Amino acid sequence: MQYRRLGSSGLQISELSLGSWLTFGKQIDDQTAEELMTIAYEAGINFFDNAEIYARGRSEIVMGNILAKKSWDRSSYLVSSKVFFGTEGKDAKPNQRGLSRKHIIEGCHAALQRLQVDYLDLYFCHRADKQTPIEETVWAMHQLVLQGKILYWGTSEWDASEIMEAISIAKQHHLIGPVVEQPQYNLFVREKLERDYMHLFKHHGLGTTIWSPLASGVLSGKYNDLQPNDTRLHMEGMEWLRDRVLNDRALEKSRELQIIASELGLTSPLLSLAWCLKNPNVSTVILGASKPAQLKENLKCIGAVDLLTDEVMQRIEVVMSNKPKADSF
Ligand code: NDP
Repeated sequence: MQYRRLGSSGLQISELSLGSWLTFGKQIDDQTAEELMTIAYEAGINFFDNAEIYARGRSEIVMGNILAKKSWDRSSYLVSSKVFFGTEGKDAKPNQRGLSRKHIIEGCHAALQRLQVDYLDLYFCHRADKQTPIEETVWAMHQLVLQGKILYWGTSEWDASEIMEAISIAKQHHLIGPVVEQPQYNLFVREKLERDYMHLFKHHGLGTTIWSPLASGVLSGKYNDLQPNDTRLHMEGMEWLRDRVLNDRALEKSRELQIIASELGLTSPLLSLAWCLKNPNVSTVILGASKPAQLKENLKCIGAVDLLTDEVMQRIEVVMSNKPKADSF
C-alpha cells in the first residue's frame, strides 16, 4: 500500500480506503463489516469513510463498535463522518440537517458518540447548503478544529465555485479552510475531477477521496451478461440508484472494458479501479464491498496500475468517449 498526501496537507492517506455506504448497518451483518475492516487494515488501508446519514447513524455505530473492539492504535487510522443529511431522513426537523452552525456542531458531537472516538480525522460537508451562508459553515468547521474535535475538513459534491468561496473566506479571516473534496469519480463520471477542480488542484492543493469507483458495481462487469439479484441495486428502496447506473449504454461500455481487461489478464473491477488510482489528483480511492472476497480482489488493483500504459489508456478513452473538454477560457 502506498500513502499519498491529502492534497497539500501534511496528512498521509492510503491510496485505497474503505467506505460503509449501503453496507454497514444495512446490507451486511456486523461480523462481515468487521471482517472487511480487518482485511482492509491488515492490507495497510488507513482510512475508513462514514457519514451521519449512512443507515441513519447505524453505519457509524457498527464502525464504532468494531474500532472499539479492535483497539487499533488511534494514531494508525483515519475515520471520517459527513454532515448535512442528518439521521432522520424525511422526518428531520428544521435544524436536524444542513450546514448551519447548529447542525454542524450537533452533528459532529453525535458522530463522535456513535463512532466512539474523541475526534474525527476528516469531517465533510456532505453537500452544499444553498440556504446557509458559506461563511457560517467555514467558521463552524474552524471552531471544531480549534476544539480538537476534527482535524481536517472538506466538502463533498460541491461546485468548484463553492469550494473556492470557502477557501477564500478562510484565507480572508485566517481560518482553517477545506483541504479535501469527496466527489464521485469513475469511468462514467469524470467532469468534476478532470475539469472543474483543476484550478483547485493546481493553485490550492485540494485533495480528493473519490467515491463509487465501480459505479455501484456496474463496472465490476457482473451485470454484463447476468442479472444478479443479490446486490445493492436490487435492495428495496434502491430503484433510484438502479435507474441511474444500470442501463444499456453503461453495460455496452462495461462489456468493451471487460475485453481490454481480459487481454491484460485483469478482471473488470481491477481495470476500473486501477484507472481511478492512476489519476494523480486522486488522493484515495474509497472502495465499497459487500463481501470479503470482493475487497480481497479489489485490493489487487494496486498491481494493475503499471499495466495501464499510454496505449491502454488511449484504448479505454476510445471506448468511453467521454473525456471532459477543458474549459475554453
Ligand atoms: P463502488 O462503486 O466501488 O461500489 C461498491 C459495490 O460494488 C460493493 O458494495 C459491491 O456491491 C460491488 N462490488 C465491489 N467490488 C466488487 C467486485 N470485485 N465484484 C463484484 N461486485 C463488486 O463504491 P461505493 O458506491 O460503495 O462507494 C465507495 C464509498 O464511497 C462508500 O462506501 C462511501 O464511503 C463513499 N460514498 C460517498 C458518497 C458521497 O456523497 N460523498 C456517495 C457514495 C459513496 P454488491 O455486492 O451489492 O453488488
